[in-house]
Amino acid sequence: MKKPLDQLAPRAALVDIARDFHARGWMPGTAGNLSVRVRDPLPPEADPAAVDTEDTFWITASGLPKGRLAATDFVRVAVKDGAVVERFDVNARPSAESAIHQVIYRHFADAMACLHVHTVDACLACADLPSTATDMPLPPLEMIKGLGVWQQNPRVVLPLFENILDVAGIAEAINWRFKGMLPTVPALMIRGHGVTVWGTTVQEAYNRIEVVEFLMSYLARAQACK
Ligand SMILES: [Zn+2]
Repeated sequence: MKKPLDQLAPRAALVDIARDFHARGWMPGTAGNLSVRVRDPLPPEADPAAVDTEDTFWITASGLPKGRLAATDFVRVAVKDGAVVERFDVNARPSAESAIHQVIYRHFADAMACLHVHTVDACLACADLPSTATDMPLPPLEMIKGLGVWQQNPRVVLPLFENILDVAGIAEAINWRFKGMLPTVPALMIRGHGVTVWGTTVQEAYNRIEVVEFLMSYLARAQACK
């Protein structure tokens, strides 16, 4: 039996996830990126908002096929400014989308892993939303409990961001919005692009992205049946 992800070394866990997601068509070619924060998890009594750290995170290096990663195909980046602090290959560079991971780690001090994938279902699920929409309503299905929502017929939305060529602009939009209000679920959607999900462990982030993609598949199929 395979080990739980949290019993693997952090980069080995991300390699495992990348192969898994590539096989599902969630990380075609070089698309998507996965990261893990380099720091011990916060103790349960810690106030995440009060923690100011000099953390870094390992993220998949840019431009590499996600079905064939090795544990050395990562770049370690500072949360505060995105500077590369460690890499195994002098030519390795972080994805432009590492700026989105930076924003997540800055706003959620208890986030230890962040996963971003490009899926057909997520793109289809938001295709019919008005161009002015800034939220993506999620269906009130049983699976939504996997995002920590325990309510009867919950009304939950994912924060929705426009996809623009300059990824730094997307990251800034996320940063600006989260400064005003944090989302009620640990996930966000970029229109026509894909979801980003985070968790307090690698396994938790993995479980949550499966939940979110289940909901994206439901929405995509429900729209196709209209
Ligand atoms: Zn992306």
